[in-house]
Amino acid sequence: MKHIFITGGVVSSLGKGLTAASLGALLEARGLKVTIQKFDPYLNLDPGTMSPFQHGEVYVTDDGAETDLDLGHYERFTGCRMTRWNSITSGQVYERVLAKERNGEYLGATVQVIPHVTDEIQWALRRLAEKIEDLDVIITEVGGTVGDIESLPFLEALRQFSLQVPAHDTMFLHVTLVPFIRAAGEIKTKPTQHSVMKLREIGIQPHAIVCRSEYPLEKEVRRKISLFCNVRQEGVIEELDVQHTIYELPLRLRQEGLDEFVCRHLQIGLDAVPRMEVWEEIYRRVREPKGRAKIGVVGKYVTLQDAYKSIDEALAHAGIAQEVEVEVVKVDAEEIERSGAAGQLSGLDGILVPGGFGGRGIEGKIEAVRFARERRIPFLGICLGMQVATIEFARHVAGMKDANSTEFAPGVAYPVVSLLEEQKQVRQKGATMRCGSFPCHLQPDSTAHKAYGLDVVHERHRHRYEFNNDFIDELTRAGLIIGGTSPNRQLVELIEVRDHPWFVGCQFHPEFQSKALQAHPLFSSFVGTAAELCMSDKT
Ligand code: GLN
Repeated sequence: MKHIFITGGVVSSLGKGLTAASLGALLEARGLKVTIQKFDPYLNLDPGTMSPFQHGEVYVTDDGAETDLDLGHYERFTGCRMTRWNSITSGQVYERVLAKERNGEYLGATVQVIPHVTDEIQWALRRLAEKIEDLDVIITEVGGTVGDIESLPFLEALRQFSLQVPAHDTMFLHVTLVPFIRAAGEIKTKPTQHSVMKLREIGIQPHAIVCRSEYPLEKEVRRKISLFCNVRQEGVIEELDVQHTIYELPLRLRQEGLDEFVCRHLQIGLDAVPRMEVWEEIYRRVREPKGRAKIGVVGKYVTLQDAYKSIDEALAHAGIAQEVEVEVVKVDAEEIERSGAAGQLSGLDGILVPGGFGGRGIEGKIEAVRFARERRIPFLGICLGMQVATIEFARHVAGMKDANSTEFAPGVAYPVVSLLEEQKQVRQKGATMRCGSFPCHLQPDSTAHKAYGLDVVHERHRHRYEFNNDFIDELTRAGLIIGGTSPNRQLVELIEVRDHPWFVGCQFHPEFQSKALQAHPLFSSFVGTAAELCMSDKT
């Protein structure tokens, strides 16, 4: 088993997650079996309770863990399946240490960061290796920036770990920023030097440095970084901002020789010829689209880049699959409340209402659904998006005045969306939602069935509320279609409406299973229909 440890320096938001995911893709292209994990230094047990303003999207795995959004990149770039073991936070590490202490497992010892916390972190590394069969490489990304107090125990644990295994079984890769200073007209390597110094202070000498830069690194700059950071020249890897799509990153890093360098150091995968055709094809499709579609995402966190990450990526994958250019327009649901749907939504080829929590912007989202339904614009509602679609239909088609979800209007006369039975006694906030992958049986002839081409699908959930079965008869009589249910038919998982070109609301989150190499069928069908209608409008 080989280990690659990825750290970051100088500033945060360097795209370490994308670098880790792309390296995973490059190793897989050589036929190696890879998994990627994330260590996060914060004390929350998971990001499930954090606001999107703090943390961006919460990514949900098949086994129901609420994790860091970088795990989404790992799944989108590679064939790995993420589990709860792929996301470790300081909170989880401390929770285990404290539980052991209470159980007397430390036999009277003083419990300390070194060795008890660091041992626990190393145990997490070994445990993941045991969980997956025939694994060749584990890539471990350490969150935060070198120099932070919080990430020190993780780095110390990795340093100790690397001493215990053969030298060629581990490798440290440091991602830094190499800024261009306009006034001087020069690229500066000093921040990188300092960041590497910080790493070496704690005993870690990186083998490779991935330099995030806006401009190409000249030979002299590479030589300087190599010399002052004590890294071989081939280990200085330039990573420029991508031009067209993040999915060109594996190609760029391959050109820079990253995989070659890593494989030589770890002494694996050297005789394989990397298969890059699929990545070339993606890159070609992004540059030469045959059509276009403008998709509005109507939400509450529209100013935040990372809040709807998986949705943005799933739309991009659909564009790649359909060979169309997808323009995503973020629409503020509260702006619709202030100035009306028409002004905000006219000219869109498709409307998507994503998941969300809390009542803010709800009326605007309902208006967006109405606009899509009445004007026959392709519509995809996800989780909360399906719930507001149900409310909209109840109010404006089935005549249930003021229908609502009990999440926003507890005593409402028509609670068409209400708390799941299993949620009624729950008081704690963390890790208590209906989370993870569940089967869904699709109705033959439904739009969803056509898109998937399957009778049963498995999709990931994260919610407390659900379609209220008390209203099934009344709503279906008015024309609502129950497109999918749980196997025992107790839970409505997908709805559609009659006489509409493409209208699907799903209680689950299809975006979590969309991949660069394999777009999600619902997204693909949604974007494909939107692009087709856009074309026919113009001809
Ligand atoms: N707030 C809704 C619920 O808890 C929807 C959740 C979501 O969109 N993920 O059911």
